Amino acid sequence: MKLIFLGPPGAGKGTMAKRLASHGGMAHISTGDLFREAVAQGTDLGKQVKSILDRGDLVPDEVTVKLVQERIGRPDCRRGFILDGFPRTIPQAEALDRLSPPDLAVNFVLADDEVVKRLSGRRLCPSCGKTFHILFVPPRKPDICDGCGTGLVIRKDDQVEAIRNRLAVYKAQTEPLEAHYRDLGILRNIDAAPDPEKVFAALKTALGV
Ligand code: AMP
Repeated sequence: MKLIFLGPPGAGKGTMAKRLASHGGMAHISTGDLFREAVAQGTDLGKQVKSILDRGDLVPDEVTVKLVQERIGRPDCRRGFILDGFPRTIPQAEALDRLSPPDLAVNFVLADDEVVKRLSGRRLCPSCGKTFHILFVPPRKPDICDGCGTGLVIRKDDQVEAIRNRLAVYKAQTEPLEAHYRDLGILRNIDAAPDPEKVFAALKTALGV
């Protein structure tokens, strides 16, 4: 099965994609993770996209489509894939329709104030990469990593200014994709507000798995 996951930042697309991929044997492809890895490794791509990611803007379509085209051509995608965070613009969706049309587009629906609450509470350990949330997954000692004792940080794009920008970009550029996939008859809406177990159950029902 070839799936795409739509929905605002913080709706839990990544969490659901990881669970579903291990359940269904598909490849999980997060363009955000691919870009962040490139930044962390200091590759040419990473240098090109770092400031774009920090602001919460979108990487240009040509760069993103090329990355996805290369990734979905790899052998682990033969049994299907979940694209998490791609496409995010109409030109990206049209490119995917030409390259490898998705079977279903799952849209995780979440209100703006919930997006801000979820993202602004996220904390990251810069040393071991463990993630926390001040409300939902608090560390044992405030602002200290449970795993390695390092001081936790807020990802640049989880700072309030960047969150507001990411939401505005989502509404302007990505929300129109709902109509694109609705017109194709492959859009499935899922309420992303309940706890992850309930959302995952609703996802499996929507996919018939
Ligand atoms: P995410 O983790 O999915 O929120 O992505 C983090 C950042 O990576 C986004 O704010 C964008 O800067 C960039 N990014 C990820 N996916 C795309 C995409 N499909 N098109 C353009 N930029 C993207």
